[in-house]
Amino acid sequence: MRKRIGDAAVFALAGAALLIVGAKAWGASKAVAAVAALFGVGALLHAVIGCYESPCPACGAAVSVDGAPAYARCPRCQHYASVAEKGLTELPADYFAAAPTFSIPIKPGMALPGVCCDCAQASTRQTTVSAKIEDALAPASLGEGVRKNALLGAGVRPLIDVSVSVPHCGEHAADARIAVERGEGGLTGQAEPQLVVRVKSYACYRAAVGLS
Ligand SMILES: [Zn+2]
Ligand SMILES: [Zn+2]
Ligand SMILES: [Zn+2]
Repeated sequence: MRKRIGDAAVFALAGAALLIVGAKAWGASKAVAAVAALFGVGALLHAVIGCYESPCPACGAAVSVDGAPAYARCPRCQHYASVAEKGLTELPADYFAAAPTFSIPIKPGMALPGVCCDCAQASTRQTTVSAKIEDALAPASLGEGVRKNALLGAGVRPLIDVSVSVPHCGEHAADARIAVERGEGGLTGQAEPQLVVRVKSYACYRAAVGLS
């Protein structure tokens, strides 16, 4: 895997700056100094062990890999790959992950394909999976109408109920999870947060996002 030198340098500089801030603040406030030092060390660690990228095995685009995830998704072709030290390996189309992994973007009025989210056989039933999401974390992906309604509420941080109908077969439960994901693309390509439903079956994911 290739190091994203630019991103790593930014994290290293930010970490060093925070450590200096922490050292200067020590006399005035030990708490401020400790917090600055903590974030400083975190940023330095990220510069050392994170900020890698590797070519997508499906299309060749650069895929960023931070930390040590089991899977990474290509921002260009949306294929997932498994992550190893030497790089990314394409997943077979019928692959299953042990836990809900493959993120299908949630759109208003969406319907998932008629395949079990767990084993990818034809689904025979649907179960509604729901979660409470902080409105600030789920802006445009829900559609403006929904968002405005939530913002009219009195709360400072309104929560929105998000639910998705998840298809599954008679043998499996609707083992899927709703989550909020940060944009991809390292420091320069931060997109706005995306609401997703994660499934175990790569085939279910592929059908849902339109990969052949
Ligand atoms: Zn990074
Ligand atoms: Zn790709
Ligand atoms: Zn199943």
